[in-house]
Amino acid sequence: MTGSPRLLLVRLSSLGDVVMATSVPASIRRALPGAHLSFLTRSRYRDLLTYHPAVDRLIEAPDELNSLDAWFRLGLGLREGRFDAVVDLQYNWRTLALEAALAPVEVRRWDRSNLARRRKIQDHSAPAVPHMVERFHRAAEPWTRGEIQPPVVGEDPGAEEKARNFLQCRGEPGTSWLGVVPVAHWATKRWAPEKFARLCEAWTGAGDGRRALAFFGPRDQAVRKSFTAAGGGGPRTHVAEGPLSMAAALLRRMTAVVAGDTGLMHLSAAVGTPTLGLYGPTSPDFGVAPYGPGHLALGLELDCRPCSLHGGDECPLGHHRCMHDLQPERVLAGLQTILHAP
Ligand code: SF4
Repeated sequence: MTGSPRLLLVRLSSLGDVVMATSVPASIRRALPGAHLSFLTRSRYRDLLTYHPAVDRLIEAPDELNSLDAWFRLGLGLREGRFDAVVDLQYNWRTLALEAALAPVEVRRWDRSNLARRRKIQDHSAPAVPHMVERFHRAAEPWTRGEIQPPVVGEDPGAEEKARNFLQCRGEPGTSWLGVVPVAHWATKRWAPEKFARLCEAWTGAGDGRRALAFFGPRDQAVRKSFTAAGGGGPRTHVAEGPLSMAAALLRRMTAVVAGDTGLMHLSAAVGTPTLGLYGPTSPDFGVAPYGPGHLALGLELDCRPCSLHGGDECPLGHHRCMHDLQPERVLAGLQTILHAP
């Protein structure tokens, strides 16, 4: 293979994992400036890659593409890319079908570490799993020269402009913004919206020039309602909704962000904002801490933690202490730590 390999990088989902996978093209570009890099992801994550400075070609898989046959046909269509290798950062039946259609081509797959992560649930003293970003890079090792660049989310000029205007209309120049993310796909990963509202109140009440911004998606109306009913959404606390590019642009402008173990937490860390991640049933030791210096993962020490790889609808023990017992004062202390990190 030459110093200008044609590589297909694949990560289809989910939000946080795609964010972390954006580090791989950055590392390859730095090691091999002449490489041609294509990145395949689901259409709903296009905003993360469209402005990536190292990605030559973004390939979108339609969100509804879901049969073995459809993925094989997508692979057949990609043969025209004349790829020297596929770096499979997903590794499931979809990508196996895709790679079968691209054969013969070199395929390097990442280590999902499913067993090691499950072992950590059964035996809490088991070693931490290497970070997902590091495991992604092992798959791409022949083209990175062993160097790891942090995740990169390019700036969409239109979204950056909108974010600037959005914040200018809601705060004075020099305002310190606290971003909070009260939502998470799985209920057990959510810190209560009422506690997020108290956190925002404590932040905005601690000085003039302080505002808070809560991030919600279109399907998060119930959580949003609880947040505003508890005092969030007051004169100094605002709410934001919008596409990923807008979320990235707003997160980039926050002084700090507090979020559960979610995709937006990883997006916040990736855009370089000091980020505090709140972990309940899951663990940063699964290799999913916010990546990079200046961030912090916070979780209570309980005999039952962690209990789940991804979280669930209900606490298996019924008390949900991992989130209920985590008080805003403790989170505020964590926030101070990241704000004063060197
Ligand atoms: S309280 Fe314990 S058992 Fe319940 S969801 Fe949290 S970690 Fe799991």
